[in-house]
Formats: sequence, structure tokens, C-alpha cells
Amino acid sequence: MAHDFLPSLTGSFAQPASENPTMVMVEAAYRHHGLHWRYINCEVSPENLEKAVKGALAMGWKGFNCSIPHKVRVVDYLDQLGESARIIGAVNTVINRDGRLIGENTDGKGFVQALKAVIDPKGKKIVLLGAGGAARAVGVELALAGAAELTIVNRNEQRGKDLTQLICDKTSAKADFIKWDKALQVSEDTDILINATSIGLYPDIETLPNVDLTTLQPTVVVADGIPNPPLTRFLKGAKERGCVTVDGLGMLVQQGVLGIKYWTGVDVDATVMRQALLDLGL
Ligand code: NDP
Repeated sequence: MAHDFLPSLTGSFAQPASENPTMVMVEAAYRHHGLHWRYINCEVSPENLEKAVKGALAMGWKGFNCSIPHKVRVVDYLDQLGESARIIGAVNTVINRDGRLIGENTDGKGFVQALKAVIDPKGKKIVLLGAGGAARAVGVELALAGAAELTIVNRNEQRGKDLTQLICDKTSAKADFIKWDKALQVSEDTDILINATSIGLYPDIETLPNVDLTTLQPTVVVADGIPNPPLTRFLKGAKERGCVTVDGLGMLVQQGVLGIKYWTGVDVDATVMRQALLDLGL
């Protein structure tokens, strides 16, 4: 049986390819659904990105993922972008449609999908911690999903203001900015609080975002983009306050589900992918 190859163009990766979490979860879905596809991990240096994209086309790959540092520069080598990828200015998923390369950003879409299992962001007031690549993807996608108001909270003022302006200019959501220089007081009318910073990521698992958790109402849904560990100290604190929580493994799994749908047209079982990640020790 011929196998379709679906490689990931990644930057330098600390883990051996056999333990690349995305590869492990995507291939678990392929096996579970009897899809005769492969997902392989290739390390590509920034100076070879254009050649790698052309090579993927030449070899008939159906698509690929891009990780940091390629998410922004890869846009130069694509034929078309999805709406959110165009606004965000970054692509993590590329689809080969009859020789035309389409760029999508599934980081934010995956997050929104995971969130929707608990709460629909439409019409909600959301506080977003962070303004880096993940926050940009999450913030834009929440705005496109109909969020009423986003408050961007970030340590670096310029980055925070840039994301706030982007949301105001390119979506119908309202956005404002708070410079994060002291413990954040969560206002009572907040519906959803999201950590989209890198705080709490393994191995710095004891650190947590500077939020005054005593101001957190139990009605607030609290989400964390950190996939490893899934139960961050931030989410533990929110649970102790009685809040419903959404972990970063859900975002990772759902962006994978969306990627596979783009490439193969098949809706795969998210629980199989989540279990594959848990089996890896995430
Ligand atoms: P970036 O480096 O682009 O941004 C990091 C963000 O974290 C910035 O807003 C930065 O603030 C903030 N930050 C970092 N340390 C601190 C600190 N000590 N105090 C306050 N703010 C801090 O990273 P990304 O946005 O690309 O990634 C962020 C995280 O998102 C990663 O750790 C990754 O694990 C997660 N992620 C999860 C995915 C998933 O599928 N679950 C997908 C993609 C990312 P400042 O601007 O002030 O420096």
C-alpha cells in the first residue's frame, strides 16, 4: 500500500524524533483510523526553509506543520492563507491542494475548539495573559469566534499594545491592554481567563502567572495553553477556587485533529490522540 507522507518542518528539536509529541499523537490517530499515511519529523534550518518547502511540493507531500522559528517566514513561500493565518501573520499548518500551498494557523483554532467543550467564547469577556505567538493566535481566533471583549495582559508593553491594536483593527471584538507589572486583579465580570504565556512549562513547573487568585470568581472558566504538564500550578489554583478549567493538552490535540482533517478529510478521534500524549508522559 502506498503511504502518503506528511512531514513536519521543524526547527531544532530537543527530543529524538521518536518522541516528538505531535508525531506520536498524529500517527496514533492514523493507526486507529486505518489511515495509510505517515507523519515524519524533519529538522530544517532557517536558511533551508524555502528549499524544504519546494522539496515537500516536489515529493508530493500532502502537507506539513511548521514550528518555531519557521511559522512567520514560511508565509513567503505559500500561495494562499486562511483568514486567521493572514491576520495573525503566522502559519503552523500547510495543505497541498493540487500543487497550491495553503497556510492555516490551527494553534488558535485548536484552543477555541478545546474551550468550546466547556464554554462558547461568543459574547464573552475574556482576559488573555501574554502577547507572544501563542497569545496572538488564541486572541485573534477568539475574536473571530465572536468574543465580545478581550483584555490583553502582558509584561512587554509594545507587544501587548500591538496585539490589542491588531484585534481592534482586524476583528469586530473590543480589545484593551493592561501592562503586567503587578499581581493581576481579575475583574468580577470576567467570563474566561487564559494563560497564553510560557509560564509553567516543564521544567519550570513551580512557577505560575502573577495573578491574585483570591480575586478569581468560581464562575470564571480558566484555561492554560501549557501542554506539559497538563495540570499546571495555575490550573490547580483555579480548581481550588472552584473554577472549571481547560488544559493545554486539549489545544495541542485539537490543533492536530484540525490538521488531519485539512490533510486527509477525516474527522479523527481526539481521545486516541490525547491518550497517546499521556502515554508519552506529558
Ligand atoms: P513567545 O516567546 O512568543 O511568548 C511568550 C509569552 O510569555 C510572552 O507574552 C511573554 O511576555 C510571556 N512571558 C514569558 N515569561 C514571562 C514571565 N516570567 N512573566 C510574564 N510574562 C512572561 O512564546 P509562544 O507564545 O510561542 O508560546 C507560549 C507558550 O504557549 C509555550 O510555552 C507553549 O508551550 C505554549 N503553546 C502551546 C500550544 C499547544 O498546542 N498547547 C501551541 C503553541 C504554544 P513578554 O512579551 O513580556 O516577554
